[in-house]
Amino acid sequence: MEKKYTSSNFIEEIIDKDLKNNKNEGCVHTRFPPEPNGYLHIGHAKSICLNFGLATEYKGLCNMRFDDTNPETEEMEYVNSIIRDVKWLGFDWGDRLFYASDYFQQLYEYAVQLIEKGKAYVCDLSAEEIRKYRGTLTEPGEESPYRNRSPEENLDLFKCMRAGEFEDGSRVLRAKIDMASANLTMRDPTLYRIRKVSHYRAGNKWCIYPMYDFTHCLSDSIEGITHSICTLEFENNRPLYDWILNQLGIHHPQQIEFARLNISYTLLSKRKLLEVVEEGHVKGWDDPRMPTITGLRRRGFTPASIRNFCRRIGVTKFNSIVEATVLENCLREELNKKASRVMAVLRPLKVVIVNYPEERKEELGATNNPEDLSMGERKVPFSRVLYIERDDFCENPPKKFFRLAPGREVRLRYAYFIKCLDVIKDKETGKIIELRCTYDPATRGGDAPDGRKVKATLHWVSAKDALEAEVRLYDYLFTKRDPNEVEEGTDYKSNLNPKSLEVLKSCYVEPSLKNASPGSSYQFERLGYFCVDKDSSKEKLVFNRTVSLRDTWAKISKKKK
Ligand code: ATP
Ligand code: MG
Repeated sequence: MEKKYTSSNFIEEIIDKDLKNNKNEGCVHTRFPPEPNGYLHIGHAKSICLNFGLATEYKGLCNMRFDDTNPETEEMEYVNSIIRDVKWLGFDWGDRLFYASDYFQQLYEYAVQLIEKGKAYVCDLSAEEIRKYRGTLTEPGEESPYRNRSPEENLDLFKCMRAGEFEDGSRVLRAKIDMASANLTMRDPTLYRIRKVSHYRAGNKWCIYPMYDFTHCLSDSIEGITHSICTLEFENNRPLYDWILNQLGIHHPQQIEFARLNISYTLLSKRKLLEVVEEGHVKGWDDPRMPTITGLRRRGFTPASIRNFCRRIGVTKFNSIVEATVLENCLREELNKKASRVMAVLRPLKVVIVNYPEERKEELGATNNPEDLSMGERKVPFSRVLYIERDDFCENPPKKFFRLAPGREVRLRYAYFIKCLDVIKDKETGKIIELRCTYDPATRGGDAPDGRKVKATLHWVSAKDALEAEVRLYDYLFTKRDPNEVEEGTDYKSNLNPKSLEVLKSCYVEPSLKNASPGSSYQFERLGYFCVDKDSSKEKLVFNRTVSLRDTWAKISKKKK
């Protein structure tokens, strides 16, 4: 049976083996541990689908845990957005919503235990000195002069640290491991630092805060996690994870690392995304160009398309870049089945049907979705004055242009054959402002009785019935496949795409969209998938282009080959 969330991967092999050996009494318990210092992005979705997906597939549990130990950068706004986004992706943690900050007291007690065992010490070196003493990859570090303080002295100093008696940065608590270890992480890493700052949840209760490595393994242990899945950059931290748990002799989850998601033309780093937002390169975390979950949602992506993407790309131990088109294709597949087809004209050109009576109006039947006939039909009004796409007309057509041109006949979708008689231009600018055409009443909704053929079918709207709309077209936010690849002296921002947003203010859509609600998706025939933006109102409809109909980039690169 095909699994819903994951494709077979090396983590499942590890879990299968553990289950066979009845490790953890045959239980699987994972967690998703975001730090609330920004909005979640599609990279986090990979981790969410993996952790919650494994729990579902093995009938285990997955906790939601905020890893909130940095008072300077964390906020409730981020907590709320993360909760909303994980739920929207379709996952549920039941009553297991946890915060590392709720474990501060217990973490403190574990630190005290390490001190009592002679495995941790208070160090008075400055951050700068600690760095110097650490050594390098090729040279061992040097022991701190404070390393051999007695447990009693350390305990006393640590209590004073907690009581707020020392200045920020004047002392830290360090693990006493091995200054000569080949792994720099193991050279007496810092476990606690002094920060006299208020925490968004713990308030002013604490002025010492535990470091990530210390907090993470202990939070996993406290919650009874069996498999602690994280990204590859934590591989070097695993010995420390194991060391802390072994010293304390408590429940010991297995840390497993996988490759983080990278997507072409996309940045997946909360820190950089925050910068992009704060410096105004986009309009917010939910700007439809952002790879955040909230941005993707506003752009028109669905939870299922993101979950399918995460399953499709799989889980490995090797870093790579996934093409952005893979994600787009997952969405196209879904919207092709689900989105209603409608007609919209983005760059309108007026067409007057000279032999169609002025007062006449017809309602023509149109199929909502040829992929799913159960979605029914709707009526689209036809009248004497229409709009077609400016691109669909060419005054002097090149060889392979089969659409409308002077003297040429084409089909209007669901309507009639029309033939172009005349081109009207603005006297001053020479710009084409109107086409005069005739229609053939015998071709209504079908072919010509005499069997004559046309080479193109155009979409259109009736001018007096259409609704005016604003349409926002998006391109990738960065111009480089790897936005981090930069010339010396510049940073990723030099790769921002100045043309990532194009706003078309005077578009026309068929009247059936009158009550379209924000978030709903449509296929604009021949143009792509669009969704109603939250800026949309009764007065003015606003659409985002979610994706084009086909993957135009793939087409271009195929042609080049
Ligand atoms: P960023 O690098 O964007 O700041 P982070 O790792 O600092 O991300 P966390 O909030 O700590 O962000 O991440 C929560 C979980 O999501 C972690 O387990 C992390 O490994 C995972 N994660 C973050 N980014 C990715 C990614 N690009 N691909 C897969 N998993 C990711
Ligand atoms: Mg992190």
